Amino acid sequence: MTSYLNADLHCHSTVSDGTLSPHALAVRARQQGVDLWALTDHDETGGLPQAQATAQSQGMAFLSGVEISVSFAHETIHIVGLGFDIHDSTLTQGLAHTRGGRDQRAQDMAQQLAQVGIAGAYEGALRYVGNPALVSRTHFARFLVDSGVCHDTSEVFRRYLTEGKPGFVPHRWAGLGEAVRWITQAGGVAVIAHPARYRLTPNEEFALFSEFKAHGGQAVEVVTGSHAVHEYATYADMAREFGLAASRGSDFHAPDESSTDLGTLPPLPADLVPVWDLLRHRVQAPV
Ligand code: AMP
Ligand code: MN
Ligand code: MN
Ligand code: MN
Repeated sequence: MTSYLNADLHCHSTVSDGTLSPHALAVRARQQGVDLWALTDHDETGGLPQAQATAQSQGMAFLSGVEISVSFAHETIHIVGLGFDIHDSTLTQGLAHTRGGRDQRAQDMAQQLAQVGIAGAYEGALRYVGNPALVSRTHFARFLVDSGVCHDTSEVFRRYLTEGKPGFVPHRWAGLGEAVRWITQAGGVAVIAHPARYRLTPNEEFALFSEFKAHGGQAVEVVTGSHAVHEYATYADMAREFGLAASRGSDFHAPDESSTDLGTLPPLPADLVPVWDLLRHRVQAPV
């Protein structure tokens, strides 16, 4: 089943911090030539039924997906889950709990921004929110760009909303073992998302991969829109060293923000086990 030439297993809809509906994303993925697709909204699975229905009617195979926020060492780590049962109650409750602190966090972020002269950021961010349970830094970033404070989202994350900058509010997300167990006990595969993005020392990164594997994690994103090209090789080596399968996904959020469109990444290195080989029994075939 390495016959999926164009798998895109990471992207976001209006159910979290993307700007397209699950339906519109599925249509776009198909137009971009994707033949195996997963929607992976942050901490939320509400978009999956619509995504699956459109994917299947467009002739595209589908896997359930989610991207869970996890606190590890001093960093926020993202763990993607693929191919799980969307009705699993432990997973559903765990995600609800993980989402729970977001509104208070958003109010605290806005209060910090007000102290540096940026008023109305909470209400401003809410205008971009598609799901009230999922206010994210991305929505603040859109507000800061559209109101002229910053030119683009990368300037936002250089000047605001990150550690040591105005608008950063530390938050306690799920534990690594919790997130991995929610996914695997619901029949899915856990994947370390975009590992190059974390500011971890080599020892911390080794601990992340070791603990992830010990908890039952089975894959790592190697080819992702969140990696520079030279990082594909680095994390292909990590997949080999830790005996992990490899995933591929654009991390597409919005047509006018994301530099990597759905379905446009290079293939995985041929010697790696594609994560979909572990999930053949979970793939929802086109109808
Ligand atoms: P949150 O879950 O509220 O902490 O928001 C995290 C989201 O912010 C990520 O999923 C990205 O979509 C976005 N983000 C974080 N850092 C950056 C960055 N440097 N550039 C662009 N988007 C970012
Ligand atoms: Mn995001
Ligand atoms: Mn992420
Ligand atoms: Mn993502």
